[in-house]
Amino acid sequence: MTSECVLDLRRGIDSGEIVPYFQPLVELRTGQLSGFEVLARWHHPLRGVVLPDEFIPVAEAGGLIGELMQSVLVKAFTAAVSLPEYLRLSVNVSAIQLRDLSLRQEIGLAAERAGFQMSRLTVEITESALVGNLEHARMVTQELKELGSRIAIDDFGTGYSSLRHLHALPFDEIKVDQTFVHTMLSRRESRKIVAAIVGLGQSLGLVTVAEGVEDKDQAEMLLWLGCDLGQGWLYGRPVSGDELQEYVTAHKRELRKESAKAPVGGDSGFHMDALPSQRLAQLQAIYDGAPVGLCFLDRNLRYVSLNRRLAEMNNAPIVAHLGRTVAEVIPQFYAQLEPYLKRALSGEPVIGLKSRAVMEDGAVQMRSTSYQPTLDEAGEVVGISVAVVDITERESKDEALRESEEHYRYTVELSPHVTWTADAKGMVMESGPLWTLLTGLTQEESMDWGWSQALHPEDIPRTAAAWQRSIDSGKPLDLEYRIRCKDGGWRWMRARASARLGEDGAVVRWYGTLEDIHDYKAAMEELEASKARLQAVFDAVPVGLVIAEAPSGRVAMGNPRAEAILGHPIIPTDDIAGHAMWPLFHADGRRLGSQEYPLVRAIQRGEVVDGEELIYECGDGVRRWVSLTAAPIRSGEGHITGGVVALRDIQAVKAPQVDAVGEILGKGSTDRGKRSLKPKG
Ligand code: C2E
Ligand code: CA
Ligand code: CA
Repeated sequence: MTSECVLDLRRGIDSGEIVPYFQPLVELRTGQLSGFEVLARWHHPLRGVVLPDEFIPVAEAGGLIGELMQSVLVKAFTAAVSLPEYLRLSVNVSAIQLRDLSLRQEIGLAAERAGFQMSRLTVEITESALVGNLEHARMVTQELKELGSRIAIDDFGTGYSSLRHLHALPFDEIKVDQTFVHTMLSRRESRKIVAAIVGLGQSLGLVTVAEGVEDKDQAEMLLWLGCDLGQGWLYGRPVSGDELQEYVTAHKRELRKESAKAPVGGDSGFHMDALPSQRLAQLQAIYDGAPVGLCFLDRNLRYVSLNRRLAEMNNAPIVAHLGRTVAEVIPQFYAQLEPYLKRALSGEPVIGLKSRAVMEDGAVQMRSTSYQPTLDEAGEVVGISVAVVDITERESKDEALRESEEHYRYTVELSPHVTWTADAKGMVMESGPLWTLLTGLTQEESMDWGWSQALHPEDIPRTAAAWQRSIDSGKPLDLEYRIRCKDGGWRWMRARASARLGEDGAVVRWYGTLEDIHDYKAAMEELEASKARLQAVFDAVPVGLVIAEAPSGRVAMGNPRAEAILGHPIIPTDDIAGHAMWPLFHADGRRLGSQEYPLVRAIQRGEVVDGEELIYECGDGVRRWVSLTAAPIRSGEGHITGGVVALRDIQAVKAPQVDAVGEILGKGSTDRGKRSLKPKG
């Protein structure tokens, strides 16, 4: 290095040729500008722009570095002072400066002259500058921190990458060197190193910055690895102080445009199989592919990460969530969720919280949300992991169900029956007003199993068993039981219910009725009693009686006397009341034609046959005289509904003629002539 070089630089510094350029630092998650790194440029009158790699060593060697920095910093601070306050400046200090105890003063002075707040400043120190100088560096950085500045370790990974250095100095940021970033997509080793440095930074609580980000794929991967800030040509080349304000404005405009056109879920060109860890990739795929909205919120309820499904549900791209709070992203839901979010932050999980809101597009959305507090290794809540299910469709089905119940209620209010509904488990949800009228039990008292208070104690076990069978099987219920009425009396009721099934075949609801069958039951009992009385008479009369139905002629019943006369039991039979079963003959021995049978004549033609004397062959060729009286049975309207025949054994009266008859009959054998019919008893 020649003294001319030093002299030239001296002249350059004096004539203000060394100027700051500004390279943007951007938040990877949101794309938002976070600040600029100040990079020195020498606008040489003859050589054009000279880069720092060339003149910084000259300045260091020539003892000009302090002055150089002073002039660059004042210009940089002056240019940046009017920028929004959240934008920070990073400046580089060289190893030599770190040995100089006046660094603090120099920086402080420059900031003061420009009116720039030290809290907006980050001082970058390369690791190699620390070697052999740790104690001193510790003092200098400590002083800078006291002024409010932050300290970054620059080019991490290229020097000693010593954990001791990281540990010894109060670093706030760690900058991953660009050589790793440039090759991280093509080289697994680079990827591993970047992941390790980012992981190291995260676990030490440092802000991680990646340098040399030149394309989107690198940015995506860095984001996925959890890196906080990016710097590189992707976001912009260093700009001069004059262009600074313009850059900030243009960036804001660009960001707004980007987030507006970004597809919901983000447009990631980043391939999972290129990830350093297969397992993480799979988890990521599950996270993204889950049909449930998932996200992680930090303690300030800001979205740290989320999956595509949630972005879709919230109608906003993933990037529009990151770093923003729940209140900002879904204000329409926030009031309903807030108390539960607070609970989750205090460590209490929340399961299946239902919420409902009108979305921007006017559609109603219903959600079921669960919060799981996430604890760190010390048991402190560090955030909330959230699962959200869109239940709009399910709820509207329930609504439809409610509506149909409304409909059902309408129709049944007109019905004389008590109506009721029960849930899938058989818990009564509602019973119509008639129930209260009848039993005096209120709706509330009758809910679930409350209605059974009205049951007759004797009917409880039977009823409970039948109801349980229906609940288990989904099969309809139909049974009778007694209930206690308001007046204290018991009344018989018939309970019926059928299940309404869901799409999956499971019971959704039971719809039931309760019919007052008390009077009907009493009438039926009365009828049974009178029937029994008639039966007793029927059975006891010394005349054979056979009743048949019209028009079929099928025998309905016969009394014991009739069976005795006919010599065989009378069983309800398809056979028409005549011909085949009753071999009857006229006095002249001629067999009766089927239409001549008294019962047939009564049923088919409504004739009344009065005591016709005929010969009956009761089996084994034995024949006896019988007298048959037949009459039709008519309904109230006069239609023939049946016929009755009365049989009397008149053998004793006709006995004297037996021989003659025997002679006559002897010639005409019948088809049933040889059939053996045993008299009953
Ligand atoms: P550095 O601190 O690591 O600065 C980053 C360097 O990477 C800059 O080079 C920058 O222009 C370059 N760079 C930024 N983005 C990209 C990218 O996407 N791709 C590529 N290939 N390069 C990118 P520059 O400006 O030539 O600075 C070189 C070094 O000189 C800096 O490295 C820094 O250590 C030092 N330096 C710059 N200005 C100053 C200063 O004012 N004082 C001191 N002491 N050192 C300075
Ligand atoms: Ca730097
Ligand atoms: Ca660097």
